[in-house]
Amino acid sequence: MRSFFIFLSLFLLSFQQSKSQNIDYAREVLNILCSENFHGRGYAMGGAEKTSEYIKKELKKQHLKKFDKSYFQTFKIHVNTFSGNNFLSINNKKLIPGIDFLISSSSDSLSGNFSLKVINAALINAPEKFKKFIISDFSDKVILIDTFGLNSQSFNNAYQLITERNILRAKAIIKVTREKLIYVPSQIRKSFPLIILRETSLPENPTEVTIDIDSKYYSAFETKNIIAYIKGKIDTSIVFAAHYDHLGTMGKSIFFPGANDDGSGVASLLTLAKYFSKQKNPKYNIVFMFFSGEELGMLGSYFYTEHPIFPLSKIKFLINLDMVGSGDKGITVVNGSVFKDRFNQLVEINDKNNYLPAIKIRGKAANSDHYFFFEKGVPSFFIYTLGKYKEYHNIFDTPERLPLSKFEGLMHLLIDFTETITNPPKNAKKINIEKSYLPTVQRKN
Ligand SMILES: [Zn+2]
Repeated sequence: MRSFFIFLSLFLLSFQQSKSQNIDYAREVLNILCSENFHGRGYAMGGAEKTSEYIKKELKKQHLKKFDKSYFQTFKIHVNTFSGNNFLSINNKKLIPGIDFLISSSSDSLSGNFSLKVINAALINAPEKFKKFIISDFSDKVILIDTFGLNSQSFNNAYQLITERNILRAKAIIKVTREKLIYVPSQIRKSFPLIILRETSLPENPTEVTIDIDSKYYSAFETKNIIAYIKGKIDTSIVFAAHYDHLGTMGKSIFFPGANDDGSGVASLLTLAKYFSKQKNPKYNIVFMFFSGEELGMLGSYFYTEHPIFPLSKIKFLINLDMVGSGDKGITVVNGSVFKDRFNQLVEINDKNNYLPAIKIRGKAANSDHYFFFEKGVPSFFIYTLGKYKEYHNIFDTPERLPLSKFEGLMHLLIDFTETITNPPKNAKKINIEKSYLPTVQRKN
């Protein structure tokens, strides 16, 4: 009896150890991916490049195979980057990048001191004043535009033309926002800088502005997807996907860490790679795809589906993980209602094991790297976690803040799901993917 208890406690101890080892490893990966060294995993200062080398090193450690001579699949992108100055002051009040303001990612470089002209409700509601204003010369001025209290359709059109196309030909445009600052990278560069400024950071009666912005545009920047696998007995694959790129830098002093988006996905894939590399002789290949260019418009996964390394028809199922760092309220499964039988399997596994508090279903959505695979006929899910954590595309999406509340549960769910796909339970009803799913584009491969 005593030896049984010793055995039991040893067993529990080893399970808990492996539990905390998974989290420890995920934390280690996140801390590295989000460190200053990786410059927000963008294209300035070699951020994405360094990240790809790190992921390759981790995959090699687990002895994962490459399909070709290399783990890398290179492709070219257009991108506007910021690795120089990012200074802004209004009426001599120095503003803090990432907190008080963002430089819109399509901005041109600019440096100097300029007088500031304000467009707001007070001006628009004084037609005579506005008429005079609109015909003045803005070529050495900066326009600050605040739409508070203005919502007529005609003004909306003018607002778009001023902020998107700079029709008043000012040196730069500053637009005031009352919302959270959210950064989105750009494939294009415009001929003027656009700055997004928090309303609470704007000094009273703004009259002058000092700007120093350096941007650099690349029309053919080489970046890469990373693809590795564990060989199975059958030439068919289960694919796990995540994107390793993020938003990069906004000047030399600011980078976007992207812990949840999608450091969490990369940490998940590396954790799964570690797990599956220890399994002997799996039935299907277990493939790991780490995409670049996602934040610029899912460019890496699009390129992959146009140039697949093995036929897309050989993918049994693809699971894309993007923003999986919380989970205290469960997960959402995009394509869940398209592949309903597979979704029910996930729910069944979860009901039995209580890995996650909820599994929510969603239809198709073009919101991450699964999408072009799906459009080309690959059965796929995109999973993201739900919870209190809300930091998104800002400087606060850091590993210290990211809870990883249900990381362990999600890993278990995905491992069991892989097992169910591989060895369907004897009493399970036959999965009929073809019946429930008609791809928009017919499979070519
Ligand atoms: Zn993402």
